[in-house]
Amino acid sequence: MGVKQVALADNITAVRSKVNEALTVAGRHPEELTLVAVTKYVDAQTIKELIAHGVEHIGENRLQEAVRKQTVLGDLKNSFKWHFIGSLQTNKARQVAAGFDLIHSLDRLSLAEALHKASRMLEKEIPVLIQVNVTGERTKHGVAPAEVGAFYAAVRKLPGLRPVGLMTMAPDTEDPETSRPVFRELRRLFAQVKRDYHPGPHWRELSMGMSNDYGVAIEEGATMVRIGSAIFSAGTEG
Ligand SMILES: *Cc1c(COP(=O)(O)O)cnc(C)c1O
Repeated sequence: MGVKQVALADNITAVRSKVNEALTVAGRHPEELTLVAVTKYVDAQTIKELIAHGVEHIGENRLQEAVRKQTVLGDLKNSFKWHFIGSLQTNKARQVAAGFDLIHSLDRLSLAEALHKASRMLEKEIPVLIQVNVTGERTKHGVAPAEVGAFYAAVRKLPGLRPVGLMTMAPDTEDPETSRPVFRELRRLFAQVKRDYHPGPHWRELSMGMSNDYGVAIEEGATMVRIGSAIFSAGTEG
């Protein structure tokens, strides 16, 4: 337990310093970046420990497990903003909309419509990121790059939803440079929506970069990085 806590503190410190380094390289301000700690590997007790380390954003990819952890946390769950980053079944739309602050994985119109309906029932606007399958890998979810504009336009017609940006997952790779063109393409698509549809100031998030490539993602304009193993692995990193 003690050892694990030390590793957690060390890992978070290492991640933060690498984040700051990448921001400096890119000439960007720290306020432009949200660090989302992906807690899918750990239990509610470990999430609780994150409060002391100043972590404010939590990412989970499975609804049932996330809800279980939130229940264990009780009121402490309000210490965090909750990000839903996993693939989302349409029949779970309402539960996810109720329990999370931002959904990163809007990837099809039927889901947008279900979330819109949920927003009516919950009487709240639901912020979403459109997930893009930049590389076209069959195993990955997301809207095709060529369809992002039209998809955005369709989502915007649903007043219960507030599309705030784009999200992508780069291919699994050891070399972070492999991800760079993927992140660049996402940023280009983001700018294209801005140019073609004038979405206004809410259109501002690029969720890209995980443990192995967040430095590159920040250099390429990420506003949200989703980091799991670099924070929660047993050995110290960096
Ligand atoms: C697990 C996961 C992450 C974090 O991955 P790490 O490589 O452990 O940092 C980020 N985004 C999504 C969508 C995930 O499922």
